[in-house]
Amino acid sequence: MCVGVLVPRPVGGLLDYLVPEGDVEFGDLVEVPLGRGHEIGVVWAPGTGKIDTRKLKWILRKLDAAPLVTNMRTFLDQASAYTMTPLNLMFRLATRAPGILGDRPTVPVLCPTGHIPERVTPARQRVLDYFRQNEGLPLRATQICQEAKVSGSVINGLVEAGSLVRETQLSDQPYDRLDPGRAGHELSAEQRDAAAELQRRVRAREYSTVLLKGVTGSGKTEVYLEAVAETLKAGQQALVLMPEIGLTAEFIERVTVRFGAPPGEWHSAIPAAERRRLWRATGDGQIQLVVGARSALFLPFRNLGLIVVDEEHDTSYKQEDGVIYNARDMAVLRASICGAATVLASATPSLETWKNVEDGKYGRVNLPVRAGAVQMPEINCIDLREAQLAPGRWISGALAVAVREVLTQRRQAMLFLNRRGFAPLTVCRSCGFQLGCDDCDARLVEHRFINQLVCHQCGRMTPCPDHCPACGETGQFAAVGPGVERLSQEAEELFPGARIEVLSSDFFGSIEDFRARLQTVRNGHADVIIGTQIIAKGHNFPLLGLVGAVDADLGLHGTDLRAAERTFQLMTQVAGRAGRTREGGRGIAFLQTWQPDHPVIEAIVSGGEEEFWAAEAAERQVAGAPPYGRYAGIILSGPNSSDLERLGRLMFRKAVPLRDIGAQIYGPAPAPVSRIRGRFRYRLLIKAERRAPLQQAIAVWRAQFNFPAAIRVVIDIDPQNFM
Ligand code: ADP
Ligand code: ZN
Repeated sequence: MCVGVLVPRPVGGLLDYLVPEGDVEFGDLVEVPLGRGHEIGVVWAPGTGKIDTRKLKWILRKLDAAPLVTNMRTFLDQASAYTMTPLNLMFRLATRAPGILGDRPTVPVLCPTGHIPERVTPARQRVLDYFRQNEGLPLRATQICQEAKVSGSVINGLVEAGSLVRETQLSDQPYDRLDPGRAGHELSAEQRDAAAELQRRVRAREYSTVLLKGVTGSGKTEVYLEAVAETLKAGQQALVLMPEIGLTAEFIERVTVRFGAPPGEWHSAIPAAERRRLWRATGDGQIQLVVGARSALFLPFRNLGLIVVDEEHDTSYKQEDGVIYNARDMAVLRASICGAATVLASATPSLETWKNVEDGKYGRVNLPVRAGAVQMPEINCIDLREAQLAPGRWISGALAVAVREVLTQRRQAMLFLNRRGFAPLTVCRSCGFQLGCDDCDARLVEHRFINQLVCHQCGRMTPCPDHCPACGETGQFAAVGPGVERLSQEAEELFPGARIEVLSSDFFGSIEDFRARLQTVRNGHADVIIGTQIIAKGHNFPLLGLVGAVDADLGLHGTDLRAAERTFQLMTQVAGRAGRTREGGRGIAFLQTWQPDHPVIEAIVSGGEEEFWAAEAAERQVAGAPPYGRYAGIILSGPNSSDLERLGRLMFRKAVPLRDIGAQIYGPAPAPVSRIRGRFRYRLLIKAERRAPLQQAIAVWRAQFNFPAAIRVVIDIDPQNFM
């Protein structure tokens, strides 16, 4: 018999393999010979019959892993179709745990037989006693030697005497059981209502999506943990997605307190062995709750009842390289296929989600006030036109006064600036030359802490040259504009004696380092916290009384479709870090801006949220922009700029299949970042109506071309990023 097997390599579809009749079923994970090696595969469909059976190879064996359930396979299929990603690569996302091809790892252990040896020396007695203390469970030799303080020969002697036997045992321990019956915090009336609605949805055991909209600090996490509890009570699995792995530590702590054991954790910083264990436990259905980054969505859950997408508006849910997908949207897709409840939690939901609520596709639950009688922060503008900052200064007098006041109250202040490094630009004072990356269309950013110039596109680092490559003058380089490092210098001068901590994604080596630093900051071992957007997200800093956004306008420059939306979200989130506990006192936030009358800034300060979204929605609707219309970005990249342009023009001319569905195509144009790692980049943009069959049309269109190997063509459905 012959079956179609899906492998996680770009082989363009299914491969046929032979298998003894009745030996495998669809969804079984198998090991197959492929090329010169072996590969994991999943039995996907009947054989395609494209190849003569006499030439086919046999499936080597079934893996010691739970089969992929039908809804998981359907999910991969539909996610592949939606994102226009080959199914093989989608499957690769679902098998991103090193070593799952092997057997489950085992360890040698010793078990007591109950037989008393003829000669019981004191050492032997200690071993037997130690087994008794451990209720006769199998133990590792090293552990026995250590704990019973005996040598290996004592153990060997006991084996020879028939008192112990050698066995092997799976080395992966099952995950600790979470107890959903334990009581959580006492909820406020609003929280209780919100939790009841989420629980009702979980109990329905069918697909639904609800927006949990609550101001920063309103207890969204508290409330969705009730939905998690309901899911666990029903014996189903729950998944909580977070936009940033720095946030998971706090969540794990809260889960441990709430349910008596930690959840499973999944993201890139988790060691391979643990990833393998977790991957298996999701497939077995043994693990109850997983918290993770976007890729956790592709774990092979057996019985998923709930997906929570925390901070659903966050842009990092969009995976931008490799397989391009939006984890928030794919979460809704997966839930709709497996009949799970979805909770999208945010203080500042995306316009997409607002619209889906308005259209009645998603429900909505509100938490309008902060938990525990904590007030929302007061938000003020500082008009930079009146601040008269000296050159090279970024902190206005008004902001400095406010920071000092908070510091004298022994509370913390946070200065937010979404710019890593010392200065975004370095120029030669004598000729005006700007230091740029050789391989990218990008400036080099000075990072003074590590004494390097860094390209934020490709990561290349170079030491600062001592003479200008253009005019040869030495000692003429000047830093232009602020980064967080430069801000910390200014803060040191303005607030002498204050302990200043800079938190930016490029400072910490490992996630543990970052967590440790976060924890010391939370505990009060810093007075002024300076950071990039990494500190804007869901963190709780109990002592934080003041937040100053040094450049609130930063995100408003440029032509990004979502510039206003992003700035609104980011500034609201940043301000929302202030005054989150009663001890912290009333929080206060300052936005330094050159345009205090800008509608976005006004909306943040006045709290005119609904009006802001209404205005934003109206603008997008007129423009046919998402979420009212649909976009797809086409990015061409290659070593030769004119080849790209020529191909782009050809693609434009032959866009009949797109025009047939009423779509418009724009371009080709050099991308705003026109070169990365030595490769030139061109973009085309497709705009279609919401209901138009965009993916099918793109597929027909794309099939007309034979792309040269040197040119890479990337299709980005629902692009978030237009660089
Ligand atoms: P959000 O997720 O909306 O930002 P959290 O769930 O993190 O809010 O809650 C903010 C803070 O208030 C947390 O420290 C949380 O433990 C606390 N909190 C929320 N609800 C309650 C409650 N009902 N009882 C006690 N503490 C609460
Ligand atoms: Zn570069």
